[in-house]
Amino acid sequence: MMSNLNAILYVVATPIGNLADISLRALEVLKTVDVIAAEDTRNSKVLLNHYSITTPMTSYHDHNEDSKSIQLIERLSQGQSIALISDAGTPLINDPGYSLVEKVSQAGYKVVPIPGSCALIAALSVAGVATDKFSFEGFLPRTSGARKAIFEAYLNYAGTLVFYESSHRILKCLDDALAVYDPSHTIAIARELTKTFETVVRGPLEEIYRCVNEDSNMQRGEFVVLIEGIDKKRRKDSDLSEQDVQTLEVLLSECSVKTAVKLAVQLTGQSKKDLYKKALELQSGD
Ligand code: SAM
Repeated sequence: MMSNLNAILYVVATPIGNLADISLRALEVLKTVDVIAAEDTRNSKVLLNHYSITTPMTSYHDHNEDSKSIQLIERLSQGQSIALISDAGTPLINDPGYSLVEKVSQAGYKVVPIPGSCALIAALSVAGVATDKFSFEGFLPRTSGARKAIFEAYLNYAGTLVFYESSHRILKCLDDALAVYDPSHTIAIARELTKTFETVVRGPLEEIYRCVNEDSNMQRGEFVVLIEGIDKKRRKDSDLSEQDVQTLEVLLSECSVKTAVKLAVQLTGQSKKDLYKKALELQSGD
């Protein structure tokens, strides 16, 4: 451990929209450190000007992280303190910083978190979906096939699947979700959190898709998508007979959940919702 207490890297969360969402401690640190390493110095200038912070900035982003990390560690070795910030929210959460934090820790310097805004946590706190267990996937892949593969992999996950999505892919992404999940599956979208057009909608996937499809405003801005998992606590016993379940099991051994449920509806005459729920249970091994 280094003996110089000034040689600290602070990882500072900044607002995700509303400039007032910053802690007193974050402002103090940004004012007093020797340098602020910012993802985009022009972008961060707006925040710093707003709070009359004149600390010098240096850029630290995905394309210069290795060379910049060396320079920043050199500053720490001279006893300087550094604040790392990203364009919005918490650095390292789908933002640059991992390489720096790893190298600084390995070099034996202290890394101190200054917690605050984070879009995924803000979304979870208001979306009305289960929060006791969740998995964060960052941004989903760009291709439809790869996105569907992720949804398939999460079909029998008991927690909430959370991910970030951009305005130009939100509709395609919901369309891909519809190809995998039952249309009644509960999802939520948290859009433009803490900003003027903040919108949080929750409901059956097909309704949320319709809501986004029919309103071009719902396709603008920044999004967090939350897909509920299998709700074991609220799971109701259905009217499925043993034979219905066996039919479903056979189909599941040969086809995807979506196809198996579709065929099982035709073969058993049972409700799609019950069969879908059962299929997810069977897949999760319950
Ligand atoms: N580090 C940030 C954090 O702590 O949330 C995330 C950075 S990531 C590059 C940017 C993505 O986060 C956006 O494309 C969007 O999916 C999500 N995001 C950021 N701000 C948001 C907001 N105000 N409302 C909804 N989603 C937001």
